[in-house]
Amino acid sequence: MSARGKLFVVSGPSGVGKGTLVSMLAGRDDAWVSVSATTRAPRPGEEDGREYFFMSRDAFLEKAAADGFIEWAEYSGNCYGTPKDKVEEQLAAGRNVVLEIEVQGALQVKEKLPEAKLIFIEPPSMDALEERLRGRGTESEDAISRRLATARVELGEKMKYDYTLVNDDLDEAFRAMTGYMASI
Ligand code: 5GP
Repeated sequence: MSARGKLFVVSGPSGVGKGTLVSMLAGRDDAWVSVSATTRAPRPGEEDGREYFFMSRDAFLEKAAADGFIEWAEYSGNCYGTPKDKVEEQLAAGRNVVLEIEVQGALQVKEKLPEAKLIFIEPPSMDALEERLRGRGTESEDAISRRLATARVELGEKMKYDYTLVNDDLDEAFRAMTGYMASI
């Protein structure tokens, strides 16, 4: 039987580019990227089962009550959770698993599965983050302000992570992240 896979959790403020970094991992065969469930509405171009499993709040809370998530959290007014079964299945099959989740969820994972390694992605500055969030053009002004306030709180939690990197240059950040993962 193969050894159990390793579990990596990637967090960082909204707009920091963690989605891009994690999607660069998805094309490789050394890691399986988990698809979360959420109650937020799909953004243009997002597909059910690809970016997220989109669920109603009732269905989400029912799954949470049935212990169907490794962790879940409320973020900017919506619920997000990591489905338990598939992650367990992949780890048991010896594949490394990557979760791209926010800070409260990451800390829940560390509590339940202390062997998980938490990776925090930082923006070069708050100004750079704001610029990226606006440039994305997917959020209302209200949502941008909420996400920036949350980002300040999240940055305050980075010392609880096992590894921190700054996403200034995408290729460099990807090299740092995969280098760290390979060292575990
Ligand atoms: P977005 O709405 O921009 O796709 O995601 C908002 C935040 O939710 C991001 O920080 C993202 O990493 C986080 N997130 C995505 N899936 C999960 C999950 O399963 N659990 C938790 N706790 N956070 C998640």
